[in-house]
Amino acid sequence: MTRNVDLLVIGLGPAGSSAAAAAARAGASVLCVERKKVIGIPVQCAEFIPLPLARYAAPEARAQSVDAMDTALPSGARSQRAFHGLMIRRDRFDQGLANAARAAGAVLWTDSVLRTLDTGARRARISTATGLREVGYRLLVAADGPQSAVAACLGVERLPLVTTRQYTVPLRRAQRDTDIWLSPQTPGGYAWLFPKGTVANLGLGVDPAFESDMKAPLDALHETLVAEGRVGADILLRTGGPIPVGGLRARLVEGDVVFVGDAAGFTHPITGAGIAAAVASGERAGEAVAGTLAGDRAALAVYEEEMREQFEPSLARGLGARRRMAGIWRTDRAARDETHRAGWIAFDEYYAADEPQLNQHGETET
Ligand SMILES: Cc1cc2nc3c(=O)[nH]c(=O)nc-3n(C[C@H](O)[C@H](O)[C@H](O)COP(=O)(O)OP(=O)(O)OC[C@H]3O[C@@H](n4cnc5c(N)ncnc54)[C@H](O)[C@@H]3O)c2cc1C
Repeated sequence: MTRNVDLLVIGLGPAGSSAAAAAARAGASVLCVERKKVIGIPVQCAEFIPLPLARYAAPEARAQSVDAMDTALPSGARSQRAFHGLMIRRDRFDQGLANAARAAGAVLWTDSVLRTLDTGARRARISTATGLREVGYRLLVAADGPQSAVAACLGVERLPLVTTRQYTVPLRRAQRDTDIWLSPQTPGGYAWLFPKGTVANLGLGVDPAFESDMKAPLDALHETLVAEGRVGADILLRTGGPIPVGGLRARLVEGDVVFVGDAAGFTHPITGAGIAAAVASGERAGEAVAGTLAGDRAALAVYEEEMREQFEPSLARGLGARRRMAGIWRTDRAARDETHRAGWIAFDEYYAADEPQLNQHGETET
């Protein structure tokens, strides 16, 4: 038997839960489908959110504050800059957003996976713990992350990704700044330490076009920090995952399908941060869905227009920096401090580069 809803949401990360809550609050019937058995687990995140997003983190999701970013350049020179935010318990954070969607009236199916989409008939096949189910929808929100199954079903573009690897390790001395390492060992990415009370998330990301080995450089960084007495040798948790770094999709709306969060490409091309944009795009998409259901035929186009206006300037700057850096990774320039200063958000040189222009496809032209 087919179940019919106004809105079908695929994926219950921050983007999907935010979209579901906004649409359900406006009176839409909403069904959400999530592959994971328990929302938010496993955690695949360094767990930093910018301060304005802290209001979404319930007390049990808050770990500690961060005030500064300490960036190390290839020469060993360090630079500190204010960087205010919150370290969260990401599983609790995601669960809190999903609970808010449920409280607004959305129905959540966990342990359930989107298998196929018939966009003409507006029907989805979902495999659940109790078997294959068919769902009819009026609108669908694709919130299924960097390797969106919805995008694959639609045959639209795959997003370019960096890959990451992260260890959670004991932190020997409490700290309120985050460490960033820029070097030729992490081409197309960087290494990080985010403090979380008595532990830290120590990780790195690289562009697979330049490098595939993440274990050796992460183990080397871990050993150095152990020798310096900053972290413990134990590895308490291992995680990782892909991060989109190519900017927004050519189209955020494809017929009755709306892309949000990582599935849409909202993550920052240099830092890989995406939680704030996932929540913002999810909320706005949920409102636009409600508007469409109420008869506003322009609501989804306005969602796309507003999101591009809000996010593209910062994404374009990041894409411009990625493009400039792409030419240096296998050259001597990758070991020079000034190269990295122009490619990382903590330095004035990053913002001093020419304002990149976007063409009609949302691509940088500089
Ligand atoms: C190692 C790492 C560290 C990061 N650190 C940070 C950080 O510190 N700060 C920050 O802001 N960002 C960080 N990010 C990026 C951030 O995690 C994402 O931008 C954010 O999770 C995007 O939210 P989302 O809801 O769009 O997607 P996701 O959180 O990826 O949620 C998508 C959901 O869809 C589900 N799903 C996928 N396919 C299907 C399917 N076919 N059927 C059903 N369900 C499906 C998945 O199980 C998942 O739960 C990090 C990413 C990685 C990989």
